[in-house]
Amino acid sequence: MSSDLVIVYHRQPYEEVEVDGHVELRENSSPNGIVPTLKSFFGRVEKASWVAWKYADDPANPGFDRVIDIDDSYGKYSVSRLPLTPEQVQSFYHVSSKEAFWPILHGFKERYNYDPVDWPTFREVNWAFAEAAAEEANDDAVVWIHDYNLWLVPGYLRQLKPNVKIAFFHHTPFPNPDMFNVLPWREEIVKSLLAADSVGFHIPRYSNNFKAVARSISSAKTADEAPTLPSMTPSGMALSERNTVKAMRHHDHEIIIDTSPVGVDTNYIASVVADPEVKTRVEEIRSEIKGMKLIVSVARTDYTKGNVEQLEAYERLLLARPDLRGKVRLMHVSVGANRNMTAYEEVQQRIEEISGRINGTFGSFEWQPVSLISTAIPFRELIAYYRAADVAWITPLADGLNLVANEFCMARDDMDGALVLSEFAGTAVLLNGAVPVNPFSHASMDRGIQQALDMDRDERRGRMERLRSSVQAFDINAWVEAQTNLFDRLRNLPAKGE
Ligand code: UDP
Repeated sequence: MSSDLVIVYHRQPYEEVEVDGHVELRENSSPNGIVPTLKSFFGRVEKASWVAWKYADDPANPGFDRVIDIDDSYGKYSVSRLPLTPEQVQSFYHVSSKEAFWPILHGFKERYNYDPVDWPTFREVNWAFAEAAAEEANDDAVVWIHDYNLWLVPGYLRQLKPNVKIAFFHHTPFPNPDMFNVLPWREEIVKSLLAADSVGFHIPRYSNNFKAVARSISSAKTADEAPTLPSMTPSGMALSERNTVKAMRHHDHEIIIDTSPVGVDTNYIASVVADPEVKTRVEEIRSEIKGMKLIVSVARTDYTKGNVEQLEAYERLLLARPDLRGKVRLMHVSVGANRNMTAYEEVQQRIEEISGRINGTFGSFEWQPVSLISTAIPFRELIAYYRAADVAWITPLADGLNLVANEFCMARDDMDGALVLSEFAGTAVLLNGAVPVNPFSHASMDRGIQQALDMDRDERRGRMERLRSSVQAFDINAWVEAQTNLFDRLRNLPAKGE
C-alpha cells in the first residue's frame, strides 16, 4: 500500500519448505545469489515490498494469503504473491520467456521458437505484476523491475500509477537490432521499457545494443547533452564506466541508461575460504586427485553455457596431448535447472554421451578423465573446489555476466590458479588477467586450455593479482552503491504530472 521501494522479481524472496503437509517460509539458506542482494536494499528504506508469483492451487498451501508480512534478518517487508495457474506459468515463463526471448537475448536465432507463444497470456501475467506493484507502491516509490520475463510491466505500471519512479534491470545480455528485432512484439516491448525512468544492463555493449534497438524502432534519441560513451578496450571496462549513466529521450521523457555489473560478495567468499572446515576440504580434494591437475568447470545445463563444446575440446586435448593422460582431471559441473524442457534435456543427453565417450576411450581403472556432476553443489563445497583447482574453465557461448568466474578468483587467496574465460561472458570485459578464448573456434579453445595447464607459477600469480583487483573493483558493494545512487537520482526527478 505505502512502500517506498517495491522489488518486482518473478521468484519469492525466501524458500518454501513443506513440513508435515504445510508450507513453512525459510530465509534463503545461502547468502550468496541475487535474492539476498536485492533484499539488502530493504534496510535502506522505511517500508519495502516484493512482488513475485506463486502457484494458485498450491496443494500444500491452499487458500494462501495474497500479501504477507515478513520479518527476517533483512528487516521487515511485505510480499505480494500473485496467484498464477500452471497454464499461465507454462505460457509466460517456459514458453514466451525461455523458448522465444532467451534464445534471442543470447543470439541463438535458430533456437527461437515463435509458434507456441501465447502473447495475450504474457500480457495478462505482466499486467497482474504491474497491478500488484501499483498496489504496494506509494506515489513517490521506486519500483525496481527485474528481467525480461517482466518486460511489459514498466508500460502497464506507468498507466496505473504515473508518478512512481520505475527502474528496470536486465540480468541477461541484450542483443543488437538484427537479433532483437526478430521478435514480433519488439515495438510493444521497447515502448514499455522506454516508459521506465531507467533501464539497466551489466556492461556497455548491452546498453549500446539497447540504445540501437530503441532508435531502430521508435523515435527515441540519445539525449543531446549525454556525453559519448568511452570506447571499450579489449582489456576491460574502465573503472570510470562502473556506473555509466547515459540518457535517451523518448517524446518528452528522459530515460537513464544505466550500466552496472552485478558483482560477487567478496567479503562473504573470503570468510568461506578462511573457514577451517573449508580449508580441510581443500586438502582432502588435493589429496584425492593425487598430484593430477584439476580443471573445474561449473555451469547450468543450457545451450548458452557451451557445456557440450567444452567437453568436445577436452576430448581433443586428450587426443592431442598424450602426455596429459592420467595427469589431468576435469570436474564438469552441469546443473539441470530446467529439466522439463526439451532443449535442455537434449543438452544434458549430449553432455552424458560425450563424458561417457571420453571416460570410455581414455579412462582406466586408476584414472577417470571426466567427473560429471549433474546436481547442484552447495556453495561452500564449490568454493573448496575453486580453491583446490589448477584451472577454472569457463566457456559460455553467451552469458549475461557469469558469477562463477568472479567467485573462482575470490576463492584464490593463494594467488594461484589459472582462469580460462570465454570472450562472450559479460564479465570478460571486467576481468583483466584471464586467458581469453573464443568458444566458437576449436583453435582458440585448444590453445586456451593448454596455455592455462602449461602456465608457470609466476605468470599465474601475476594474472591472479590482476583478476582479484578487477573482481574487487566490481564487487557487490559497488553494484549496491551504484543502484542506491541511481534511486536517489530517480527520487529527485520531477513527478510526471508536474
Ligand atoms: N552454483 C552453485 N552450485 C552449483 C552450480 C552453481 O551454488 O552446483 C552457483 C554459483 O556459485 C553461482 C551461480 O550458481 O553463484 C551461477 O551464477 P552464474 O552467473 O555463473 O550463472 P547463471 O546460472 O546465473 O546463468
